[in-house]
Amino acid sequence: ASKSSPFGRLYDELYSFASTKEREIAELKKLEQFRRDFLADVSHELKTPIFAAQGFVHTLLDGAIKDKTVRTKFLKKAAKSLDALDNLVHDLLTLSQMEAGEIKMHYENFDIYNMCQEIIDELEDKAQKKNISLDFSKDTNPGLMIYGDQRRLYQVMLNLTSNAIKYTEEGGWAKIILKQQDGEAFIGVKDNGVGISNEHAHRVFERFYRVEKSRTKKKGGTGLGLAIVKHVVDGHNSKVQLESKPGEGTLFYFTLPLAKQSEQPQRNKGKKT
Ligand code: ADP
Repeated sequence: ASKSSPFGRLYDELYSFASTKEREIAELKKLEQFRRDFLADVSHELKTPIFAAQGFVHTLLDGAIKDKTVRTKFLKKAAKSLDALDNLVHDLLTLSQMEAGEIKMHYENFDIYNMCQEIIDELEDKAQKKNISLDFSKDTNPGLMIYGDQRRLYQVMLNLTSNAIKYTEEGGWAKIILKQQDGEAFIGVKDNGVGISNEHAHRVFERFYRVEKSRTKKKGGTGLGLAIVKHVVDGHNSKVQLESKPGEGTLFYFTLPLAKQSEQPQRNKGKKT
């Protein structure tokens, strides 16, 4: 049938309908696979701390409980596994709520310098234990005011800064960078730690992706920290990026809008004050 004939047009319409359906089915299949992989990942990740806690508790019940030092040691280990489980479930809930779009952003003007000072205070002990110096970079603007979701961004900065400490060897440093640049706020966390090679760099934001599975698991991470960071920063219409060299260190950074000036009252418009 020629293109201009009614049959030709019908054919074209049917053809485009069929290919749209085909695409929709492919999309659904992909989603289904994604869901299956996710479920498998989650079950696997949940099993690890459960298995560990189970092991300690059963060993205690099998007699180890009689020895006071062993008892304390095993109970502490079981508690640690349960804490890890708690963190994991918390992160999973956060991520799934975000992905379902159930978490609304609450934008406001706030002082991100103050917020990061709280994070430094919170992580000070962890850093000190590894003899890592944790501070603001020299060029940081104290009192930098930005516009964003304060609670979510706290989580972002906490995740990035605790990673900077986690993946830096003893005696290293981690720095928070906050500065005004090109009419925006530049926000970064830098360390002189183990670094991330190019082959892994684009994948670290995927949930449960770890550069070195066994090593990073021992460090107590959930493997969800950077996935949450990416979600929150995306939610602010920005993009988190990283620069890294293995053995030299890593910089994670993104930009956000500066605090919004409050609207001038109508009657003052155009008038010089
Ligand atoms: P985890 O809970 O394992 O830390 P994340 O999602 O926070 O999970 O990070 C994913 C992986 O990215 C980590 O397992 C680690 O291999 C790598 N990574 C994250 N931050 C850093 C960093 N500052 N330096 C080096 N590697 C990092």
